Amino acid sequence: MLFPSTIAGSLPKPEWLAEPNTLWAPWKCQGAELARAKRDATLLSLKLQEDCGIDIVTEGEQARQHFVHGFLEKIEGIDFAHKVEMGIRNDRYKAMVPQVVAPLKLRGRVHADEARIARTHTARKVKFTLPGPMTIIDTIADKYYGDRVRMAFAFAELLNEEAKALQADGVDVIQFDEPAFNVYMDQVRDWGIRALERAAEGLFCTTAVHICYGYGIKANTDWKQTLGGEWRQYEETFPSIDKSSIQQVAIECRNSRVPLELLGLLPNKVVQAGVVDVASDEVETAEDVVRVIENVAKFVPKANIVATTNCGMAPMRREIAEAKLMALGAGAKLARQKLA
Ligand code: ZN
Repeated sequence: MLFPSTIAGSLPKPEWLAEPNTLWAPWKCQGAELARAKRDATLLSLKLQEDCGIDIVTEGEQARQHFVHGFLEKIEGIDFAHKVEMGIRNDRYKAMVPQVVAPLKLRGRVHADEARIARTHTARKVKFTLPGPMTIIDTIADKYYGDRVRMAFAFAELLNEEAKALQADGVDVIQFDEPAFNVYMDQVRDWGIRALERAAEGLFCTTAVHICYGYGIKANTDWKQTLGGEWRQYEETFPSIDKSSIQQVAIECRNSRVPLELLGLLPNKVVQAGVVDVASDEVETAEDVVRVIENVAKFVPKANIVATTNCGMAPMRREIAEAKLMALGAGAKLARQKLA
C-alpha cells in the first residue's frame, strides 16, 4: 500500500490525566489511579487513530510525562530529586533536568504496559518511540561520566535492551527521536549515528529515526526564525544517515523551509514525511496533505513514502490535534487514489 500514515508519536493527554497544553505537564492523579488513567488514555488514543484511518498507530505517549524523561524515570543512577537548570539544544531554552550520579542501569521494563495494551487492542501495525542517545544526553546533567560520548553509549545500551523487549512485545516499528541531530550536526557524524546504531543493534523490526525542528512551542518557533530562508541542517547529516543501518527517517515537510530536494540524499531510506504541521492550529485539508506528498514524491520513490506529522502533538489542544489526525488519514487515502 502506498503512503501508509502514522504520527510522530505523541498525542495530547485528556485533562483528567494531565494538565493540558503543557510540556512536562503534572499528572492529575497518583499511584494505582494514575496507572489506570494512563491505560485508559492509551486505549483512547489508539481508538482515535484507528477512527482517523491512521495505518501505523502509536500509544500516543500517554504514559510518559515527557518524551525523554519518560524513559529516564526507570533508570538507576539518575537523581530526580535534585534537578538542576540546564540549557537545552545549544541553549535554545532552559529546563530543570535530573542528574546522572552513578553507573546507569535499567530497573526493569520501561514501557511494557503501554506496548502490551497497544498490541492487545489494535490489529494495526504499532510504532513505538524512544528518545535517541544524543537527545537524552542533551536533556540531562552529567555528574558521573564526565564524557558526553561515553554517557551517550551507556544510554544506547539501555535503549537497546528496552527496544529488544518492545520488539518481543510485538511492536512493528521502533523509532528513535533525535531532534538534537538538527543542532549538533558535526557530532552526529562523529558519534551520533554510531550511538543510534548501538541502540538499534540486533533489532529485526523496522527501525526509524525522527529528526525534527521540535514541538510547536515558542522557544522552537523563535529558533526557526533565526535559521534563515532555507533550512539546510539535513544536508550535513543525511549522507551519513543514508549509510547507516536505520531504515526510515522521519522529517518535517509541511510549512517548513527545508528544501525538499535534500530528500534526494536519502536514496536508501524510507522517508516518513511530515505532512501535518504541529506548530500551527490551522487544520490542514486532505488536499494540503496530498500536495506535500506530491512534492516529496519528486525526490523520493512513492513506495518509500510514509505520511506522518511534523513532530509530536503532546502540547496541542485536543480538538485541533484530532482534526489534524482526520486530515492526515483522509489525505493519505486521497493521495493513494490520486497519485497511484
Ligand atoms: Zn519531533
